[in-house]
Amino acid sequence: MSSSYGDLPLRADLVGQEPYGAPQLDVPVVLNVNENPYPPSPALRQAMGAAIQEAAGSMNRYPDRDALTLREALASYLGNGLTAGNIWAANGSNEIMSQLLTAFGGPGRTMLTFTPTYSMYPEYARNTCTSYVTEPRRQDFTVDAGLVLSAIARHSPTVVVITTPNNPTGTCTSLEVIDAVCSATDAVVVVDEAYQEFSQTPAALSLLARHPRLVVTRTMSKAFAMAGGRVGYLAASPAVVDACRLVRLPYHLSAQTQALALVALTHQDELLSRVRQLAQECRSFQDWLRDNGYEVVPSEANFVLFGRFTDRHAVWQGLLNRGVLIRETGPQGFLRASAGKPEEMAALKEALAKINPEGRH
Ligand SMILES: *Cc1c(COP(=O)(O)O)cnc(C)c1O
Repeated sequence: MSSSYGDLPLRADLVGQEPYGAPQLDVPVVLNVNENPYPPSPALRQAMGAAIQEAAGSMNRYPDRDALTLREALASYLGNGLTAGNIWAANGSNEIMSQLLTAFGGPGRTMLTFTPTYSMYPEYARNTCTSYVTEPRRQDFTVDAGLVLSAIARHSPTVVVITTPNNPTGTCTSLEVIDAVCSATDAVVVVDEAYQEFSQTPAALSLLARHPRLVVTRTMSKAFAMAGGRVGYLAASPAVVDACRLVRLPYHLSAQTQALALVALTHQDELLSRVRQLAQECRSFQDWLRDNGYEVVPSEANFVLFGRFTDRHAVWQGLLNRGVLIRETGPQGFLRASAGKPEEMAALKEALAKINPEGRH
């Protein structure tokens, strides 16, 4: 799809660029954007409806600009001695990242990430006029402190992003590595833990007390099955939160968003039991792939990167022809599939077995 800007005075660096996004196709089995496949239960839906009705009663007023009640609830969910002053929330962690770059990036400054990684990062950098630089991960897609610190020495970024579990590889980074990096740099170190609830590796939250420039970002899009609600958040020192408050748009988080997020948090036990089930589904799919001759990148998230295909596009298309949508992303020869319901995983395996009977490379 190409756009015509006519003779609009579009920023020069935007001319010729395409809007980002995985295809949103209406097919029976959707496993392409790491969504949680389980819609809210009837009880949760009811509670969400009641909260919206309540919020509607004061829709004439602006929402709580500082989302204090929500931030208190998020702090108590995260534990680790965090309070509302350590938490900031926005419309998805993509808005959180955008606010962080508005505050700590900008013209003449650099953001550093480790590839392959999340394909949205270059967009946040571009939009905030921040230079975007990457360094490759090791062969097994991990990073160690030496790799991160030598990249920092080379590029002098003000913002470094370590994604764990990493998207699209599912690879985790240990606390020891993050601790060592934070101890040796003045940069703001953002640990993107969008998939942390699915993982067995400890969260970086316990390091926050020691490192005032460490920022842990989270989202309700995946574990909390709230991708449609658009809620992301960060945990950091109060100074980082203050910086985000400087650059946020006034009243950025709507009253209904705040209300829905609070309801989801009060149902966290129900939602997190689904998370354990999805993590298990993802592990058994990885076993199935290995047993069937595929190369699998070990994943601690709710998705897995697998291959290696000589023509991955043909495999992706073949699956789509059978009603299964996964993602053509990551290193050449690999595809990424999200963990779905048992019947969705069965459909994916069946389709793969037809297209690629010997897990052909
Ligand atoms: C899905 C994802 C997010 C979450 O984005 P939202 O804007 O909160 O929906 C953040 N980081 C990574 C790496 C992701 O894959």
